Amino acid sequence: MQIRAKSAPFFAHWLILGAALLVLGGAGVFYSLQEQQRTQQREEDRLLAQARVVQENVGQNLLAINQALHDVRNELPAMHAGRDVNLYLHTLADAMPAIRTLAVLDARGEVLSTSRPELAGGNFSQRAYFQDAQRHPDAESLYISAPFRTSLGVFSINATKVLLDARGKFAGVVTATLDPLYFAPLLESVRYTPDTMTSIVHWNGTRFLVRPDQPDAAEMNLLRPETFFSRHRESGRDATVFSGLVYASGEQRMIAQRTVMPGGLKMAQPMVIAVSRRLDRIYAILYRDIRILAVIYGAIALLSASGLYAYQRKHLESAAREAEAFRRVEASERFMKMIADHLPGMVAYWTDELRCRFSNAAYLEWFGKTPEQMRNIRIQDLMGPELFAKNEPYMRAALRGEPQLFERTLTKPDGSIGYTLAQYIPDREGDSVKGFVVLVSDVTKLKQAELELTRLAQTDFLTGLANRRQFLLLAGQELSHAARYGGPLSVLMVDIDHFKKINDTYGHKSDDIVLQMFAALFRNAMRTVDVIGRIGGEEFAAVLPQTDGEQARDVATRLLETVSAAEVRLEDGRTVRFTVSIGLASRVGPADTIDTMLARADAALYEAKNTGRNKICVARG
Ligand code: GH3
Ligand code: MG
Ligand code: MG
Repeated sequence: MQIRAKSAPFFAHWLILGAALLVLGGAGVFYSLQEQQRTQQREEDRLLAQARVVQENVGQNLLAINQALHDVRNELPAMHAGRDVNLYLHTLADAMPAIRTLAVLDARGEVLSTSRPELAGGNFSQRAYFQDAQRHPDAESLYISAPFRTSLGVFSINATKVLLDARGKFAGVVTATLDPLYFAPLLESVRYTPDTMTSIVHWNGTRFLVRPDQPDAAEMNLLRPETFFSRHRESGRDATVFSGLVYASGEQRMIAQRTVMPGGLKMAQPMVIAVSRRLDRIYAILYRDIRILAVIYGAIALLSASGLYAYQRKHLESAAREAEAFRRVEASERFMKMIADHLPGMVAYWTDELRCRFSNAAYLEWFGKTPEQMRNIRIQDLMGPELFAKNEPYMRAALRGEPQLFERTLTKPDGSIGYTLAQYIPDREGDSVKGFVVLVSDVTKLKQAELELTRLAQTDFLTGLANRRQFLLLAGQELSHAARYGGPLSVLMVDIDHFKKINDTYGHKSDDIVLQMFAALFRNAMRTVDVIGRIGGEEFAAVLPQTDGEQARDVATRLLETVSAAEVRLEDGRTVRFTVSIGLASRVGPADTIDTMLARADAALYEAKNTGRNKICVARG
């Protein structure tokens, strides 16, 4: 749940990134559009400028041709037709590179004079340029013919002026055939890129000249609806620029067109100059830049998005790890508390300021305080001045980093006394001690068990005599003492006669009473320095230091007599009498151990049993 709650800011991150990318993308598009407009504007200006170069050049030439034709017309009356005029025309055509041929035709179209002798005698009355002039004779106008193929096989245009007779009637024409070879380099010169196309088009839509050359240029008439040429013609403007599908080339182009109509010249049919470029070439650099921008933009978008994704993933993972760690700490704390509460002793953590940070439920039993009451309590307030004074040295030592282990007797709230074993374990962090853990075990039962147990380990509980283990230990000590300092030492082995029968006869509890009675008689018969013990069910033994065989026999005899004289009174009032048999062995030398001596005494006891009981037998050797 915690993790899902964080998805809200995550969504906001994506929104912000999306908005930033949108702004950046918008800026890119805006820049591209502006750049596109700048490119378009620049190209329009360049195309128009190039077109103007051609327009002005052609215009100048038309003015010059108009002037030349005008001059010829004025000179003619002064000259006689024939060789003079031919020479004049020839010289004039040579001087003007834009003119290929000059000719003077009469009213019937007959060639009167020409710069080219091969045309002499011809009749050009069928030519459009002648008929145009003949139909609307106007002395002022310069007639520009539609392009046509001349009799000499050249595709050209004629510039023509009419001749009028004295009465103002049509008398023929003076005409100049333009030289395409002169205009071609002019068109070439303004092609500033390989894709630039230039052309000179007659007002009627027929192309006079195209560069780069197109073989069938003349076949195509541009005066069709919606061609850029038509739109230029209809616009009524001197200069236009259009972009789009160009009819003549079938390509997407930007085309600038200018009408050649030099000032002061009266022309029925002007010409149009067109300069165009392919759109894809114009925008090639821009499109390349846009592609680069798009790639950069894509890279930025991809990088920032994947960066954000990676960041969020890492964040989510660490949040999940944190939650998992938190859950584990919680679980382990619960686990710890569960264990701590079930420990028989007190468990607590005390800070270096001696305040409780953690305690288990056992404090309720020992100090009457719940874990809630324990939290943050001062140890002085918990223990009271007396106990605190006793324990303070241990606390100070623990806070110096020294582990402490000590016993303490406590009085519980219910007044009972308890024994405890306290452990103070320092909580070290580097060089400093942050506090200490207290483990207090209740050893009351253990303590009590220890005090029973020591006695139990050494004493026979029925008779109060040393048990077999203790007897052997003490007897060994006496024997080694005798071996070290010299002096006699004797041992007695005593076994009650017919004990099984006594049991069978007197039944329940008689055995214990008989055993206790014998133990008392045995103790009385011996000196305090003698070591006596119960070494079996109804078998007893004694070690008599500084006692030789004779003295020992006397002691044994006295014991025998006392026992046989004694009467044991049972709980039900009946009396029991019993006897014992005794085996006696005395120390003979350094080779003797307590085991060998007891074995010899036992052999002697066996003999006493076999030879009548209620007697003493002395071991041989
Ligand atoms: P004797 O020694 O004279 O040969 O006869 P006994 O009946 O005393 O036989 P023995 O010493 O060989 O065996 C002792 C028997 O006494 C075995 C067991 O039934 C009984 N007995 C031994 N120790 C105890 C004891 O501590 N309590 C009781 N109730 N019976 C014991
Ligand atoms: Mg026995
Ligand atoms: Mg016996």
